[in-house]
Amino acid sequence: MKIRRLSIVLLTACAVVVLALCSGSLTSRALDSIRAADMTFPMKFLGSPEFHGRNTPSTGLDIASRYIALVAERIGLKPLMPGGSYYQEVPVEVTAVAPCASRLRLDASGRVRTFTFPADATVGRGFEAGEASGEIIFVGYGLSAPELAWDDLAGLDLKGKVVVILDATLPEDHPLKPAENRRLLSARSGVLRDRGAAAAVTIISDEREARLAEKGLAFDLPERLKFPDVITTAGTPPTRPRGPFPQVEVRHEAAAAILGCTGKELADMSASLRQGKPVAAKRLPGRRLDIEIGAATRMERSFNVVACLQGADPALRQEYLTISSHHDHNPDREGRIFPGADDNISGVVGMFEIAEAMMISRPMRSVIFVWNTAEEKGLVGSYYFVQHCPVPVEKISANLDLDMISRNDPNQIYLIGSNKLSSELDASIQAMNKTAGLGLTLDYTYEAAGHPDRFFFRSDQYPYIRYGIPAVWFFCGTTKDYHTEGDVESKVDYAKMEKVSRLVYLVAMDVGNKPALLKLDLRPEVRARGPENMKVEWK
Ligand SMILES: [Zn+2]
Repeated sequence: MKIRRLSIVLLTACAVVVLALCSGSLTSRALDSIRAADMTFPMKFLGSPEFHGRNTPSTGLDIASRYIALVAERIGLKPLMPGGSYYQEVPVEVTAVAPCASRLRLDASGRVRTFTFPADATVGRGFEAGEASGEIIFVGYGLSAPELAWDDLAGLDLKGKVVVILDATLPEDHPLKPAENRRLLSARSGVLRDRGAAAAVTIISDEREARLAEKGLAFDLPERLKFPDVITTAGTPPTRPRGPFPQVEVRHEAAAAILGCTGKELADMSASLRQGKPVAAKRLPGRRLDIEIGAATRMERSFNVVACLQGADPALRQEYLTISSHHDHNPDREGRIFPGADDNISGVVGMFEIAEAMMISRPMRSVIFVWNTAEEKGLVGSYYFVQHCPVPVEKISANLDLDMISRNDPNQIYLIGSNKLSSELDASIQAMNKTAGLGLTLDYTYEAAGHPDRFFFRSDQYPYIRYGIPAVWFFCGTTKDYHTEGDVESKVDYAKMEKVSRLVYLVAMDVGNKPALLKLDLRPEVRARGPENMKVEWK
């Protein structure tokens, strides 16, 4: 009897040890399967310039979505959307300038000249359609910053005027140059509007004029996007009961005609600004400009790609964690293409490897993989996902977001958001980073409240946090190539991608295997996951 009991105990103990070893080696097999060498093919494809920056919405982005959905299916992930689809459709309203209904008409003491879009003029992003006309006034750099000893608007009456300003790149060491003053520059047209101007006309910088002239390019005509089914504000957004304020940008030839000066005089004024010296304002009585901007609106759509891996435990598989990245980037600008290899094909491809590893060893909870659209347009895809979630949001334990993981220090990664809602999330990341000997330096610089770069608000982990779901963004930081033509595949550090993806895999396993959802213990107002948390303020 005793001997039999002992042998049963021994046998059971052996079985437990074998199982543990087995699942241990399964996990390490899964971890080993996340390999830099497997990342090059999809990175070289999706990160190529032929996608023209995967702008939302665009054919390039649609093809990228298609490719991602096919890869997800081939890996063995299941569709989660109605009708067995991998696509979550995100509607977008696109307003585009109608060139045939847009023009500038100059009346210089009875002599009339017309300028067209996009040969002579374009609009800024966030443009408004409408009409305006008025006497022309030139106000140099158009900046009112008396505290920095620069005031182009002092003593001028701008009411009802078409205000012309000249754009230029100031010297590197200029007091207006530092990052904190850039806000002043971008606020210029708003100030003109507040001062009663009828419209603003910006003469483009020398560099931009030269680039267009050299390549024989016309202006781009930017599009304005609205996402009708996405809410980003807690209450109703403030409305501006004001009439249209047309803002246009013009080439140098049109500008010289509008100001009634020579090209040489215009070049001299630009040169003065480039040396950091203001240019005198000038009233131009007898010269009027009529501006008409016509626009047309159409409905389009883009896609979140959503795929699911069922959890290993029959009960816990009704709970989830999400792993996300965005696959959109930015549109061509005047002949320049932005491939967005690090931002964010690195995250997209990292998720392929994590998903493959989970086919070897998966957590108890189910894992939803979301490749988001329109992150660059204001985190639209991730807001859409949490607000139209195919599973109950209160069942999502956490979100792990990969956005830019392939540049800078090979052994360091920024974590943004891991200490905001649940102490268990950051603890898990730290523990996993140690256990697997990954040895990444975990950097919390950007998570600090009030950090001037505001990264906390700038990626797809944030909409989850606003819903009270613990979330973290794995981020390598920006480089000089950020949002430029230089963000190319050849600069990608595949070894770093491998390391970060392995860490995310381990954290997903750990969070997905915990006995309960991550506890909400860091913000007293956030007691349960759900939309009511949108009211909570984050700094
Ligand atoms: Zn990004």
